[in-house]
Formats: sequence, C-alpha cells, structure tokens
Amino acid sequence: MKIRGTINAKRYVKYSAAAEFISPFQAACLICGDEKEEGGLAGLCAQCRMGLTLNTGRVCAKCGRMLIAEEEYCETCREHERYFDLARSCYVYEGAARDIVTAYKYSSRVYYARHMAQDMAELYNAADMSCSVMVPVPTSKEKIAERGFDHIAVLCLFLSKLLHMPLAENAITKVKDNSAQAALSGIDRELNVQGVYARGEDISKIKGAHVLLVDDVLTTGATASAAAKVLKRFKASKVSVLTFASTRYKVTTENLGGKL
Ligand SMILES: [Zn+2]
Ligand SMILES: [Zn+2]
Repeated sequence: MKIRGTINAKRYVKYSAAAEFISPFQAACLICGDEKEEGGLAGLCAQCRMGLTLNTGRVCAKCGRMLIAEEEYCETCREHERYFDLARSCYVYEGAARDIVTAYKYSSRVYYARHMAQDMAELYNAADMSCSVMVPVPTSKEKIAERGFDHIAVLCLFLSKLLHMPLAENAITKVKDNSAQAALSGIDRELNVQGVYARGEDISKIKGAHVLLVDDVLTTGATASAAAKVLKRFKASKVSVLTFASTRYKVTTENLGGKL
C-alpha cells in the first residue's frame, strides 16, 4: 500500500538535508512560532522549552520511565516479562513534549520529525546504545490512511540519516488494529497487544542484529515489548527501544487489576 504522505515525506527528508546544510535549524519555534536561536531542544524557543521535562532524573533501569520511588526498576518491569533489553526516551510525555507529539501525529507536520529525530539521536549517542539496524514500531494501515502518513516511518527516515544506521522499514508489520490501546491501562494493554505484530518482508535484516526499535511515545512499554517479542523470535540478538517521550510511571493506574 503506497501512501502519498509518506512518499512526500521521503522527498522532504532529501530536501531538508540540503536545507540543513545551508541554514541549520534556524526555524521558528514549533509551538509558539517565535524565532528561536540555532539548535535547541525539540525545535523550541527558550520560553516553550521551559515546558519540556527532560527524562534525565531517576528512571527505571529497564524501560527508562521516570520513577516515583527510590528503586532501580518500576513495578511493571519487576513483575512482567519485557522482551526488549532496554528503553530510553528524551522527555516525559507531558506539557510541550505532548504538544509536539500531538501536533506531529494529527496535523501531518512532517518537519516536526526532523527536530524530534535530532533530540533522539543525541540521546542515542549519550546512552551509547550501539545498535546496528533500525526498525520502526509499525502503525496500522487504517491509521496511516487516516493521517496521510506513517509518522513513525518518517521519524525513522530522519533518525537513520542522523545516525547513519540502516533502516529495516518493514521488519515487522501490524496485523491487528488495537487502536483502543490509548484508553487502556496496565494489564489490559498487555493483553490488547498480543498477536498485534508479525514478521514483515525485511525480517531477515534483523537476524543476529542489535535492533533499535523506534516509536514516538512509550506508555507502559507493552507495545514495545510485543514488537520486540517478534524481533527476538526472528533472532534479533538484542532490542533497544528509543522514543521521543515516555509517561511517568504511575502505580495507581497501571497495576490495578492484578499481575500477569
Ligand atoms: Zn516558543
Ligand atoms: Zn520499567
């Protein structure tokens, strides 16, 4: 299925590489539109940048979500099997980070991906993830058609360019639409992602590789874990997850309803 928006996005990635060379990141702030200085977090001006919460404090050693207690792992990672080896994200999914993801995803503002990818590339290097192939978490065909583009695939186009990492765009595919996922919490999310992903035509590219699995937001990590499960089944040696943002770990909403 060819998606016009994604094809246009591919052209944009080519074009923006040239634009970057002439005028690196001298765009207006993504949120308020004011002129911002060169570089800068997530393409924001100094004022809007104050609305970002960097995910650099105490985070879960496994899923990378901001923790609320003095522990190494969040309860979800302690209690449930996680098929990814590690997950890290740039920001806490709230305030400006949430605004950026929402505007990007629902308004087809493809250029947002360039800024998001820049921050993700910096985190990737800082966290010394050392992956050999990039795989996007797949979006359902229905959602791609609805939005006009595959927002994670586009994010990966920028990121793979920045990191000089090969992209296995179709290593896994989404075979079941679990769009109700956002409304669910904890155990229901884990059950809702079962059987959602399957191998795709690029699956052979991940054999023996340390995969960098890319998504926009990590919520409970159930989606990333389900995608990583397929990658591990088809012999990925390791799966590290990189997202633009992740939610704060919340005991109250996530772990009600028992354990798996
Ligand atoms: Zn601003
Ligand atoms: Zn965790």
